Amino acid sequence: MELVEIVILAVVIALVAVGLVGGLVVGSRKKKQLPPPPPSTPTITPPAEPQVGEEAETPRDEARRTIDEVGLPDATAPVEEEAPVAEAPALEVPEPTAGRLVRLRARLARSQNSLGKGLLTLLSRDNLDEDTWEEIEDTLLTADVGVAPTQELVERLRERVRVLGTRTPEELRTLLREELITLLGPDFDREVKTEGGAETPGVVMVVGVNGTGKTTTTGKLARVLVADGRSVVLGAADTFRAAAADQLQTWGERVGARTVRGPEGGDPASIAYDAVKEGIAEGADVVLIDTAGRLHTKTGLMDELGKVKRVVEKHGPLDEVLLVLDATTGQNGLVQARVFAEVVDITGIVLTKLDGTAKGGIVIAVQRELGVPVKLIGLGEGPDDLAPFEPGAFVDALIGD
Ligand code: GDP
Repeated sequence: MELVEIVILAVVIALVAVGLVGGLVVGSRKKKQLPPPPPSTPTITPPAEPQVGEEAETPRDEARRTIDEVGLPDATAPVEEEAPVAEAPALEVPEPTAGRLVRLRARLARSQNSLGKGLLTLLSRDNLDEDTWEEIEDTLLTADVGVAPTQELVERLRERVRVLGTRTPEELRTLLREELITLLGPDFDREVKTEGGAETPGVVMVVGVNGTGKTTTTGKLARVLVADGRSVVLGAADTFRAAAADQLQTWGERVGARTVRGPEGGDPASIAYDAVKEGIAEGADVVLIDTAGRLHTKTGLMDELGKVKRVVEKHGPLDEVLLVLDATTGQNGLVQARVFAEVVDITGIVLTKLDGTAKGGIVIAVQRELGVPVKLIGLGEGPDDLAPFEPGAFVDALIGD
């Protein structure tokens, strides 16, 4: 071998040796930089994640989720048997609505004793003097009939009793019955409208101050509609009261009505909108929307109910806006009625808790106040204790027939 060749060979050997050592160094560095072994719970590792270099050292594990959390199927897990389908609870068959007021007439006992029977006893006195007429007036005012209707009624009774001369109890009863029915407005259309449009369901919005029985009434009304053969979707737009949506859903489930609900404190208008959308998709007959009734400020209420109404009306016009009033709150109820009437166009009134009051006259007063008929009355906490309001049957319950 010539010297030149020996030198070249030596250089090549030296280069190879350096390369090997360098490779080992890099290799060992690479090894050191490998991420720690995976924890016992498998983590989802993106396939493109570099295994070496700086990036791999950033603590990405924090953001990683387990298979269970991500919900991906675990290939090693045995195939789960399909969960048995929970048996749907048997649906209740609500009572037919016809004749409910007659069935529930005994619930008006307190009003009956103070208003109906009280008036008949007074009118039956032999001597109908000024004091007696004043007592009659007081009886009507105490029963929340309201000042103007009371004066009208007393005037008419005085006139008719004078014409009658001698009075039999039966004549007095007939006379009082007629006058009370007149005062209740027998010509009001009290049907709860739920016709809707050709492609859209009937939409009923239920408004009122929280605590009046709004949600309960919405649930009871769903049963009334189901009893009449209609299909119903409920909208839980009372997102203010925590339990309201659960409460409404329970009412719905009992009669097979779906409830559309949103997050607590969510936007009532969007829930109302979705409920009608669901009603259209399902081909439901009626959508009932329960709303929140916070009377914190009139502007707040106006904004909220106004928005719910506007948004719902994007689907089509509302059929009814029902105002729920608690009959036991007397004058306070009338104040509420006035505020709500300024905010939305009320088309009907539901008077709840008439079973717990002697003040059945509020029916007359509130109709006068709003010029809108009482369409339904609540006579108890039972699921079918909501009755269509019929003036004749109501007066009969008050004065006996
Ligand atoms: P909301 O806050 O207006 O939705 O009120 P709820 O629907 O939760 O009702 C408040 C309370 O009033 C509940 O305990 C109901 O059972 C009760 N309630 C509703 N309607 C009637 C009724 O007609 N008679 C009686 N006695 N209680 C009623």
